[in-house]
This record gives sequence, structure tokens and C-alpha cells, in this order.
Amino acid sequence: MSSTRVLVLNSGSSSVKYQLLDMRGGSRLAVGLVERIGEETSRLKHTPLHSGGETRESTGPIPDHEAALKAVSEELTKDGLGLDSPELAAIGHRVVHGGKSFTEPTVIDDAVLAEIERLIPVAPLHNPANLTGIRTAQALRPDLPQVAVFDTAFHTTMPEAAARYAIDVKTADEYRVRRYGFHGTSHAYVSRATAELLGRAPEDVNVIVLHLGNGASASAVEKGRCVDTSMGLTPLEGLVMGTRSGDLDPAVIFHLARVGGLSTDEIDTLLNKRSGLIGLCGDNDMREIRRRVDEGDEQARLAFDIYIHRLKKYIGAYYAVLGRVDAVAFTAGVGENAAPVREAAIAGLQELGLAVDEGLNAVRSDEPRLISPAGSRVAVAVVPTDEELEIATQTYALVARK
Ligand code: AMP
Repeated sequence: MSSTRVLVLNSGSSSVKYQLLDMRGGSRLAVGLVERIGEETSRLKHTPLHSGGETRESTGPIPDHEAALKAVSEELTKDGLGLDSPELAAIGHRVVHGGKSFTEPTVIDDAVLAEIERLIPVAPLHNPANLTGIRTAQALRPDLPQVAVFDTAFHTTMPEAAARYAIDVKTADEYRVRRYGFHGTSHAYVSRATAELLGRAPEDVNVIVLHLGNGASASAVEKGRCVDTSMGLTPLEGLVMGTRSGDLDPAVIFHLARVGGLSTDEIDTLLNKRSGLIGLCGDNDMREIRRRVDEGDEQARLAFDIYIHRLKKYIGAYYAVLGRVDAVAFTAGVGENAAPVREAAIAGLQELGLAVDEGLNAVRSDEPRLISPAGSRVAVAVVPTDEELEIATQTYALVARK
């Protein structure tokens, strides 16, 4: 029996998201989520897609990641998709921080685990959870290749001019302070899918990708290679996000510490969890913000305007970085669904060859599509991202080659 299935695991600190895919055609066999791991009210939601079966949900204590993965395994077994199946070729793990060293998806061994661990100081929230997910999966299927697909990998092609901060080089190197970028799997997938939508090879096109979800980042992709991206040492830099501030004067931090008396941890929480849209108007869901804007809410209007202003600045910056742009692609929750965001971000950029057709922009669809008027010099596109498919594809490419 040929092994063509890949399980994709995205392990967070208290959650595990998973998808089981069959790489013959890339179809999804099952998807699910375990949330609130470690609490009394952990929740497992599992949908067997291959059989068109009903979603199953259960609530009850799931103490740790090991128990979570066992519960997932039991659900899959009920559908005849158990993790002990010889059809399972590999497990692909989303790993947030791969530093400078991991430029490609990598089969996990002890040295790889040690390096992911060494990177914990630059990804204290994410890498420990990713490691737990990997170790748990290894214990469950020690014989199976486990592959790490890094959020940072796509950005390792950034030139030093884009990747370095203008700070003392020795200090930067000692503490590995540089711009790594995140959401790389999405930027890679979307830039390629955009080239495909244009009917051209990725090596022939320059694309600005705007990944606008709860976290948000922009990237400048030149001939298939990332040359700049808006997130930096951590996912805090760049665009205004659901709860993160994005760019600010670093002196804001000293000011808050010296004048406001806030601790480092308090400032960390403020900038990562209580800033961005939620800090500006109390909501981080763009649907709710748009509803409030339409009702004339001034606070929501200002939050929206700040969000758009920053987005426009990045479109302009990456236009300049690339010199020639073939397409601007919107993706992720906001980018795929919020027509007013797309319209406002592109408004007034006709001189750059950028425009949005109102009718096309209003169409709702899960398919990649153009929203610029016919004959536009630069295409504007909506390209739904699929990070799980990309992780599975990269994982399978690596193990099928062996
Ligand atoms: P993501 O992180 O990619 O899952 O995106 C999540 C975000 O997408 C949510 O916080 C919402 O702000 C946004 N979103 C999802 N659906 C819509 C929609 N129909 N209109 C506007 N924003 C949306």
C-alpha cells in the first residue's frame, strides 16, 4: 500500500489544530481542533471530510498535548484514518521560528530539535508549544518521518539590507537580533498561487502579498523570492493587527517604562495583546469594526483609518523595493473577506497602476480571483491562503524524495 497521507499539526500553547490530507490530489480527509488544553473544559472538534460525516464535538478535561494527540488519534481511528495506518507517510509540523539556520522544510532529528529549542528566546510563546507537539507525535509514531515547516523559512532569502536592523552589529549578532519575518508558509503559497492566477511562472512575477488575518504581515516577493517582509525579530513589527501595535518608535517602550512605570512584561502584553485594533477601538474583528463604522462610530472609524494608513504605507514601500510590481494579493481572514479594506487600501493609487473594480471586489468566493479592472497595469487579486496544504505539500515533497 502506498503511503500518501500527511498529518499536519499546528501546536499552540493550549491548542492543537490538525488536518489529515491525501497527497494524491491534495484532498482533505479530516480536520479538527483541540482547544483549552490543560483546562477542565477542553474541547475537541473533529470533522471527517472524506466520508462527508458530521462534525463531532466533545468537552472535558484534556490535561496535556499528549492526551490531546491521543484523543485526535482516537477520533481519526473511528473514521478508519488511524495514525497507525501504513498509508500515513509523514507528520508535518508548523514551527514558528527557524531563525537563520532553517531555510527549508527539514526532517526532524535530535539536532533539529536542539536548534528549535535554542531559538526559544526569540520565540518564547511559540517554539515551546511546537516542540511539545513534535515530541508527542514522535512518541506516538517513532517510526514515521516528522517534518518541521518553518514560518520564517520563506523569508531567509531577504538580503542583509532588509534583514538587519540599524543597530550595533556586535550586539545584534550576539543576541541574534535581526528581522526574520513570519507567516512565510502563507506568503510562499499565495505568491505562487498569484503567479498561477496570472498564468505566469513565479520566477517571472513580482508580487506584494498582504496577509491580513488577526496577525498581519506584508511581503515583497521578487521572482518567487522574498526580498522584504513587515514582521521582524518577532511578529510584533509592521502592520496594525488585531491585538498588536505593529511599527512604533522604540522609544515608546522606554517612555512607558520610565514615565509610566510599566514593567517589561506589562509593556510586552500591552503591545502584543492590548494594542492594534482592539487597543484602538475595543474590537479586533473587522466585521464588527465595519458594522460600527457603518453606524457612524468615530472610534471604530479612526481604528479603521489607522489600519488602512499603515497598509498603504507598506504597499508604497514594497512597490519601491520591488521597482516593478505585477500584482498585489490580499489573503487571510480580513484580506479574503473584507471588501472595504481592499477598496480603501488601494484607493488613490492609480498613479501606481493600482485600482479595484467595485463589482469584482464585492464578489464573495473561495477561489483566487482578480479584483482590478480589465487591462490594469498591476493586477489586484484575492488569493485564499492554505497554510495546511502548503505544509503538507512541502512535507510530502521531502519524504517522497527519500
Ligand atoms: P485569520 O487570522 O486569518 O483567521 O483571520 C481572522 C480575522 O479575519 C478575524 O479576526 C476577522 O477580523 C477577519 N474576518 C473574518 N471574516 C471576515 C469578514 N467576513 N469580514 C471582515 N473580516 C473578517
